[in-house]
Amino acid sequence: MKILVFVETAEGKVKKTSVEAVAYARSMGGDVVALALGEADKSELESLGKYGASKVLHDPDNRLSHGIIQAYASALSKAIQEEQADILVMAGSTLGTPVAARVAARIGAGIATNIVSIPEVAAGEMKLKKSIYTGKAFAWITLSSAKKVIVIKKNAATIQEVGASVPVTAFQSGVTDGDFGTRITSTEKATGEILLPEANIVVSGGRGMKGPENWGMLEELAKTLHAATGCSKPVSDMGWRPHHEHVGQTGVKVAPQLYIAVGISGAIQHLAGVNSSKYIVVINKDPEAPFFKAADYGIVGDAFEIIPKLTEAIKAAK
Ligand SMILES: Cc1cc2nc3c(=O)[nH]c(=O)nc-3n(C[C@H](O)[C@H](O)[C@H](O)COP(=O)(O)OP(=O)(O)OC[C@H]3O[C@@H](n4cnc5c(N)ncnc54)[C@H](O)[C@@H]3O)c2cc1C
Repeated sequence: MKILVFVETAEGKVKKTSVEAVAYARSMGGDVVALALGEADKSELESLGKYGASKVLHDPDNRLSHGIIQAYASALSKAIQEEQADILVMAGSTLGTPVAARVAARIGAGIATNIVSIPEVAAGEMKLKKSIYTGKAFAWITLSSAKKVIVIKKNAATIQEVGASVPVTAFQSGVTDGDFGTRITSTEKATGEILLPEANIVVSGGRGMKGPENWGMLEELAKTLHAATGCSKPVSDMGWRPHHEHVGQTGVKVAPQLYIAVGISGAIQHLAGVNSSKYIVVINKDPEAPFFKAADYGIVGDAFEIIPKLTEAIKAAK
């Protein structure tokens, strides 16, 4: 069984979710080939060998650095054909998921998205566990097609070193001007040192923070923990925080190791964006706040008293 893994990069760095995709493919068994497109750091690509890739392909064509879905779908379809891969594995994202759908249509593969664990294989069928209803339930689906496309959710696999770095092999994706029907005319980088969707720790604030002038204490806590900052929808709607920090069903879906929710009530639409977090800590002055039901740890009290003390305690512990 040969598995091709699509590796997403951001400013040349391999995304953690793509390292997870390599680890996921390795856990399935078989030969794992990773493919990166556009700008990518050579040493980062080589290190994918440590997580299970036996070969790393790279097409540095700079036109492939800008997330043009159609072009990525063409390049991946060609790689699947040339490598004679049976399965394509990739991390779900605003880029990865639509690319996966296009590739599946092109190569006539069955596709499974939002997959949360390693598949079971029996009698030629692959059984996969899929997260549905924004993480509130699971469905088991089977893929019986010869070619398969699997799109995984964050934290679907554990990243661990199993081997050594491998050399990077040049790949000609053969994309043409016809693959670039969409053109990005300008981009605006989100502010903040740590990208919210990629963060290991998120400190998030809600309407309980009373106003934008009080965010300094959350930023200080986030800085101390090397965390990204997030917020609830009303907070970004009121312009207290930028929209790219809005977490939830209609915002960013996060899956950090630790999500700290401060002054957020825990409405179902907010929980939909955080329920893949490993640990949730809730700080709220209302003991009946719904968020406590989803929390691993909770502090009932006034955020304005707790946050500075918590930050000081963490600094002291460090
Ligand atoms: C279609 C739809 C989509 C939506 N999508 C999203 C989404 O993606 N993300 C999202 O977040 N919301 C979303 N919402 C809104 C959602 O329903 C809630 O209204 C919103 O999450 C509430 O935000 P909040 O918890 O910050 O505010 P509130 O509900 O006002 O809660 C504030 C909390 O702060 C606590 N508090 C107050 N003062 C303090 C203090 N001093 N110390 C500690 N705690 C304090 C209060 O006890 C309260 O629990 C959506 C709604 C709809 C209808």
